[in-house]
Amino acid sequence: MNELYQPIETLAGVGEKRAAKYHKMGIHTPYDLLFHFPRTYIDYTAPVMVADAENGLPVAVRCTVLQKLSPAFPRRGFSLYRVVVTDGATDFLLVFYNTPYTYQAMKPGEEYFAYGKLTGGFLRREMQSPQVQRVQNAMLLQPVYPQTTGLTSAMMRTNIQKSLTFLDAAPVETLPEAIRSGYHLVGLTAALRAVHRPETKQQLDEARHRLAFEELLLFQLGTLMLKHRTNIQHAAPMSAATDISDFTAALPFPLTGAQAKAIRTICKDLTAEAPMNRLLQGDVGSGKTVVAAAASVFAAKNGYQTVLMAPTEILAQQHLQTMTDFLAPVGIEPVLLTGSTKAKEKRAIKKQIADGTAQVIVGTHAVIQKDIEFASLGLVITDEQHRFGVAQRAALAEKGGFPHKLVMSATPIPRTLALIVYGDLDITILDEMPKGRLPIRTFAVTGGYRERAYTFIKEHLDAGEQAYLVCAMIEESDTLENVQAAETYAEELENGAFAEYRVGLLHGKMKPQEKEAVMAAMKAHEIDLLVCTTVVEVGVDVPNATIILIENADRFGLAQLHQLRGRVGRGSVQSYCILVTDSRREDARERLKIMSRTVNGFAIAEEDLRLRGPGDFFGHAQHGMPPLMQAAFCSNMPLVSETQMAAKQLLDADPELESPALQPLRTAVLQLFAKNGENGLN
Ligand code: ADP
Ligand code: MG
Repeated sequence: MNELYQPIETLAGVGEKRAAKYHKMGIHTPYDLLFHFPRTYIDYTAPVMVADAENGLPVAVRCTVLQKLSPAFPRRGFSLYRVVVTDGATDFLLVFYNTPYTYQAMKPGEEYFAYGKLTGGFLRREMQSPQVQRVQNAMLLQPVYPQTTGLTSAMMRTNIQKSLTFLDAAPVETLPEAIRSGYHLVGLTAALRAVHRPETKQQLDEARHRLAFEELLLFQLGTLMLKHRTNIQHAAPMSAATDISDFTAALPFPLTGAQAKAIRTICKDLTAEAPMNRLLQGDVGSGKTVVAAAASVFAAKNGYQTVLMAPTEILAQQHLQTMTDFLAPVGIEPVLLTGSTKAKEKRAIKKQIADGTAQVIVGTHAVIQKDIEFASLGLVITDEQHRFGVAQRAALAEKGGFPHKLVMSATPIPRTLALIVYGDLDITILDEMPKGRLPIRTFAVTGGYRERAYTFIKEHLDAGEQAYLVCAMIEESDTLENVQAAETYAEELENGAFAEYRVGLLHGKMKPQEKEAVMAAMKAHEIDLLVCTTVVEVGVDVPNATIILIENADRFGLAQLHQLRGRVGRGSVQSYCILVTDSRREDARERLKIMSRTVNGFAIAEEDLRLRGPGDFFGHAQHGMPPLMQAAFCSNMPLVSETQMAAKQLLDADPELESPALQPLRTAVLQLFAKNGENGLN
C-alpha cells in the first residue's frame, strides 16, 4: 500500500479537524501536501553574535542555556517563561509569553538556535517569542509555510516531514528521463525532499529550479494542448476578398500604423480554416475598440454575427455607444443585451439574434453566455480579458461551435511572461498611441505636499474637471483595512478640504450594482472627487477626469500604478497623476521615478519585472493563473524559454501526451488545470 496517496487523515497527527482544513486547501493526500511549498526559510546557516545584532531585526543566534528562571504570572491569564542563555560572549534572555512548551523542553547546558528580534539592551537584551531548535539535528534552513487559519507553519512542517518519509518506499517522478537529463534537472523525489528539508542552499536552489521548471512546463503543456485542440477545429470560413475600406474611410480619424496592422492580421485569421484565437493587447487608450469594430464589419460582410462582451454593464453600454458610432456609416446597427435589458425588449433582441437581423451584439458575459441562439455566430470578442482565466477561455471555446475569438486586454505584460499566461493565444500588440494625445504628467511627491496637491485638484474641479483619489493600505483591493481606510479618508475630505465639492466613494466590498451606480454617477459628473481603493473599474471611460492622486504609491507595483493612471488622460485636456509616498527607501523612489519618466505600459511592465521578479505577475489571480509557487522564486527568464522549448518538444512528438511514459505528466497537467477552476482541459 502506498501511503503517499492515502487520505490525509491517515497521516499521524492529522485528525478530522485538521484534515478538513487541508481539504479546504485542496490537499487530500500526503502527496498533495508535499506540493505545498514553503513560503520562505529561516536561515540558521550563519548565526550572529548578539553584540553585532541590531535591535528590531530578526536574527538567528546560536546559544547555550545557562539558567531557566521560574515562570512568572504577573497578571491573570498572563504567564512569562524566561531562559537565560549565552552566545559565548553575551548573556541574553529568551522570553515566551503564555506558552510553556518550548521553555519546558529546553535543558541547561544544551545548545540551541534561537531566531527572533532582539530588544532591550539597558540591562540585558531579550529575544521575545523566539523560534527555538536544538543545534543537534537542527534544520539549518527551516521551511516556513504559507498559513491558513488554524494551521500553523509548525504543524504543517511536522505533517510534511512525516509525508517525506513515504517517499523512501515510493519515489515519484513526473518528467520523462529525456527532459530531465536534457535540461539538467534533479529528480522529483530529491527535489521534494530538498525543498522541504534543504541541507544546503545549493541543494535548495536546484530543487526550486526543478519544481519551477515543472510548474511552468505543466502550464505551458496545458495551454498548448488547448491551442492544439482549437487548431484542429473548423471555424466560420470567411472570404479573403472581403473589402472593408468603406468602414475605414468613414472613420473620424486615420488609423494608427499599429491599428491598421492589427486589423490586417485579424482579417487574415478570419479567413483561415482554424478558428482565430488571438489576444489584442494595447495600453489604455491605444484604440482597441476600432480594431474590434473592423473585425465585426469583416465578419458581417461574410454573413457572420459578432458578439462583443464586456465584464460590466457600464462597459457594455460604453461599447454600444462607440460601436454604434463606428458602424453606422456601413449600415450596421449593434444591439445591446445586458442584465438590465427589459424582458420585452430582450425577447425582441433575442429574436433578432436568432434570425440573423442583429449582426453585432454587445453585452455582458453573464447575459451572453446564457441560452442565446445565434443565426450564425462567427466571431466572439471579449474585452478586458484579464478577468478571464485560462479555464474560462476553455469553457468559452466549447460555446457555440468554434467561432473565431479575439480577446482584448489593457494589462501590459512583458512578452516573455505573456507567452506563458496567454500560451494558447496568438498575440498582437498595439504599441502606438493615436496622434495628438497629451501624455499624462506624473509627479512623485511626499506627504508634505498633500495640501498643495489638494489646492491643485480644487483648481481643476473648479474648472469643471473631475478627479480620483486612490487610497489603499495594501495592494489587495477589497480587504477590510482598505475599505476602512477609504471610508475614513472620504469622510475626512468631505467634511474638510473638499466640503464644497461632491465626494464619492468606491471600494471592493460594495455590491456590483452599487459599484456600477457610483461609476455611472462619476460618468454623469454627479461626483467631483471619487475616493476609491484600487477597484476603479478598468476600462471605464470618464474623459472629464483629469487628475488621479495615489496615496502610498510605493506600495503598488508599477504595472498597477500604470493601470490606475490610465483612468485619466482620456480626453483632450492635460491630465495629471500625483504619486504620494513617504517612503525613504531609495528603491521605492527609483520605481516611482520610472513612472514619471515613461507612459508606455510595456516599458513599465518590463521594468517592474526587472525590479520585482515575475512573482508579482504570476501572483495576480487576475490572470487566471494557477498559483505558480516556485516559479515566483525563480526570476530567471531563461527558464521560461527552456520550458517552452521542452513543452513543444513533448507535444510535437505526442500532441495529447498519450504514450505510457508520459502518463504521470499528463495527469499532472490535467490536475493543474482542474484545480484552476472549471476543468479546462478534460
Ligand atoms: P482602448 O484601447 O483603451 O480600449 P479606445 O478604443 O477606447 O481605447 O480608444 C480610446 C479613444 O481613442 C477613443 O475615443 C477612440 O475613438 C480614439 N481613437 C482610437 N483610434 C484612434 C486614432 N487612430 N486616432 C485618433 N483617435 C483614436
Ligand atoms: Mg477599451
